[in-house]
Amino acid sequence: MTVCSSSRDSTRNRKARWLAGAGIWLQEHQILIRRVQWGVVIFYALLLIVPAFLPLPGIAAHIWNDLTTFAQFVFWGIWWPGVLISMLLFGRLWCGVFCPEGALSEFASERGRGLAIPRWVKWPGWPFTAFVLTTVYGQMISVYQYPKAALLILGGSTVGAILIGYLYGRNKRVWCRYLCPVSGVFGLLSKLAPMHYGVDRAAWDASPPGQKRQMVNCAPLVPIRTMESASPCHMCGRCSGFRNAIALQARRPNEEIVEVSAHSAHRWDSLLIIVGLIGVALGAFQWSSSPWFIDLKQGAAFWLVEQGMIWPLETTFPWWILTDYAEKNDVLTLLDGTILLVYIAATTLFLSLAVSLSLALAVRVTGAWQWQRFHHLAQGLIPFAGGGVILGLSAQTFTLLRADGFDLNWVSPLRMVFLLGALSWSLWLVWSILRQQAVPVGRSLIGVTAIFAGLLVPTYSWVLLFWLW
Ligand code: SF4
Repeated sequence: MTVCSSSRDSTRNRKARWLAGAGIWLQEHQILIRRVQWGVVIFYALLLIVPAFLPLPGIAAHIWNDLTTFAQFVFWGIWWPGVLISMLLFGRLWCGVFCPEGALSEFASERGRGLAIPRWVKWPGWPFTAFVLTTVYGQMISVYQYPKAALLILGGSTVGAILIGYLYGRNKRVWCRYLCPVSGVFGLLSKLAPMHYGVDRAAWDASPPGQKRQMVNCAPLVPIRTMESASPCHMCGRCSGFRNAIALQARRPNEEIVEVSAHSAHRWDSLLIIVGLIGVALGAFQWSSSPWFIDLKQGAAFWLVEQGMIWPLETTFPWWILTDYAEKNDVLTLLDGTILLVYIAATTLFLSLAVSLSLALAVRVTGAWQWQRFHHLAQGLIPFAGGGVILGLSAQTFTLLRADGFDLNWVSPLRMVFLLGALSWSLWLVWSILRQQAVPVGRSLIGVTAIFAGLLVPTYSWVLLFWLW
């Protein structure tokens, strides 16, 4: 028994040393990281800009013989799902080491005007608002399908990152901290990562005067001494070993949500989880496959024709307002665009209400009403909400591979396992949160059951999309 526990301790110590060493390695290789970032910038710019100036791919185009199809596969099939999965594994290492936008924003900030950050930039609603607007706009202009749309949205975001970097802060990533449309999602997913930069405050405060005068440039403006959450940290490693108080450390994947989020969860996070990731994202992934969308559109078209109003069925817009690719027989009319927005809004409202009511019920059955408990329980839904976005994006991967003739019969059961795994993880988190708050077992069970009932609604929506439609 003693031999067993001492060998477990030595394995744990080895792992801790290895991780702390990895953090120090990053800290000591910032020049190499810069070079890697410039490599990613060049690759990103090539895949984003060149296809936008090529003719649209024909029916003989494949991933391996057409740059546009290859870029589409890399961006939406590998890059984005891969980045989201990396958040679950390594926290925001992507942001600190590889992200081209972050690198360009910081580069501009090193040479920019260094102005103070205005209050409007610091508005805490930006991650939610920017995510919703980008997601909906992306659907309006078919960002997954067309390179010009991808250039407009991803390139627009990059220009914004450079501009904000040029204007505000010195050697900082103001864009990434406050305005990036996906920083909220990355921040949520990184809470589940099994590693983070841990801060030993006692060691920090006890550090000798010489060390106290040293500075570390934390580009995303994290208040390092009081850092508890992995959300804002870009895992760049620059502060690793600082004042002998900071080290890359392993942690339990549920630790932050169960313990730290008890006091740090807030309403903008809840909105992003419930309305953004569960509601808007599901509506956006679902509308183009939905028979309800077709019924709604046909019903509206018949009604308009009966009223003698033909113009909504004929009016089209430039591609940067609403999809308009006549050569591909892919044009959204004013009516299509309106129904698209109505469909996403209705789906969002329905799913958000179902999930919010179940959370509210869970709060109520486990004690007196507390908004803080509502927001804390909402954080328990991060695996389910984030898992849904990964599932939705990976649909693009599999669609492209299937179009290129790959046999993907294994995908359907894998999806089911993934969906059920994400759902179970969320329920386990909700249970752990309630137990951590000393809610009795019976009431915790009722609370978990209420949230399970609420999550069945979006789960069924995924089942409709992947298995029934
Ligand atoms: S706290 Fe800041 S400096 Fe330290 S690893 Fe995170 S992003 Fe880098």
